[in-house]
Amino acid sequence: MTASAAWTARDAAAVWHPFTQHSTWTGDRPVVVDRAEGPWLIDVDGRRYLDGVSSLWTTTLGHGHPDINAAITAQLAKLDHSTFLGTTHTPGIELSEALIALAPKGNGPELTKVFYAGDGSSAVEAALKIAYQYSTQTGHSRPKFVRLDQAYHGDTLGAVAVGGHDLFHQAYKPLLLDTIGVPSPGDRALGPDRNAIAEAALRSVMGEHGAQVCAIIVEPMIQGAAGMLDYDAQFLRTARELADAHGALLIFDEVATGFARTGRMWAAEHAGVTPDLLTCGKGITGGYLPLSAVLAAEHVYEAFLTRPGDSAPRTFFHGHTYTANPLCCAAALANLRVMGEQDVTGQAARLGERLAKLLEPLGSNDNVLEIRQLGTMIGVEVAPVGDRTGFAVCQAARDRGVWLRPLGNTVVLMPPLTLGDDETDLLVNALAEAIDEVAA
Ligand SMILES: *Cc1c(COP(=O)(O)O)cnc(C)c1O
Repeated sequence: MTASAAWTARDAAAVWHPFTQHSTWTGDRPVVVDRAEGPWLIDVDGRRYLDGVSSLWTTTLGHGHPDINAAITAQLAKLDHSTFLGTTHTPGIELSEALIALAPKGNGPELTKVFYAGDGSSAVEAALKIAYQYSTQTGHSRPKFVRLDQAYHGDTLGAVAVGGHDLFHQAYKPLLLDTIGVPSPGDRALGPDRNAIAEAALRSVMGEHGAQVCAIIVEPMIQGAAGMLDYDAQFLRTARELADAHGALLIFDEVATGFARTGRMWAAEHAGVTPDLLTCGKGITGGYLPLSAVLAAEHVYEAFLTRPGDSAPRTFFHGHTYTANPLCCAAALANLRVMGEQDVTGQAARLGERLAKLLEPLGSNDNVLEIRQLGTMIGVEVAPVGDRTGFAVCQAARDRGVWLRPLGNTVVLMPPLTLGDDETDLLVNALAEAIDEVAA
């Protein structure tokens, strides 16, 4: 028995994995990861796999980066944890300054304050509660959110309520907040006019319900979990205009797109607009530790300052025990420092261009329905042959030394931003061969 098989048996006896169907888990031969180096995952039997999806969209500079490792170790020697409720600490302050300096600029408010959470979902929860409380503290209660169909904002109940991914979200419908869904500008089923259709729908929804809406929330430029549905930047400019016209806030969920994943630091930059609240997570610590944040505009923050004569405090009564954990902040600071020093955003843009070139021949492969891409976020939708075609392609890629995880029949490529040329070739070649093997 291999070490992987032995560990998998122990795993199956004791572990319940996220987003996992355990009736097929053992048969799917999960990779038992032991170590990682740069873009490589190494299993307990010493086999190496290219981390083709950045360990679920998180790894920016690769695994075991000496600067991030050193920053975590140095922080650990100084301060492991102290609460952000009532005390503060230097890595939390410095990271806030760094995030504000990096925040997107454009048409819309400047983002000037940082509120921390632990995962993407918890950042979204915070943003939703901030948006609602903002409405009550600046005028009247606006209990509704406008969201896009096929959206994904995380798995906690508030985040699910503003999601629109039927497979993931349908089961929880009776539990959810009242939200208003709008067709997505990325929905291919709407045809080539999808952007105009989605804009018209948003305009009409805001016309009818605008006074009840505290916020419009979107994944800017590309809906990741929906299968990398990229869309026109114009939609975001229209959303900005409609939010302003109706006194609603605009929330950009950049949990997946932030930190150069799309070839710019933020997806918002492709549209030249800024939101009132921006959520980020995943790549913030380089993929090392859990941390997320909500970047807020000054006018939002100011609405939470208690004024003379108020009958109740305007405080945002929300937070988590490990909010702004210093080790996480130190990892994030090191990640952002390296990103700046080594122009990782430029590297990501060039990696995206190189991937586009290498993937071009696949566009005319009969077994490929569509290739969607924004920077280093890529979805290759394959034609179904039997059940779980996307998964079968990923298994075939794995036999060629590349680890991928699909979204339905869309195979996702989202490698670390600093991936080298040889590894980029391997990634695309393994995918192309895997698609042909599964089709045959
Ligand atoms: C992954 C993701 C989330 C949820 O983040 P978690 O860290 O998994 O809670 C939220 N929004 C978007 C756009 C995401 O891609």
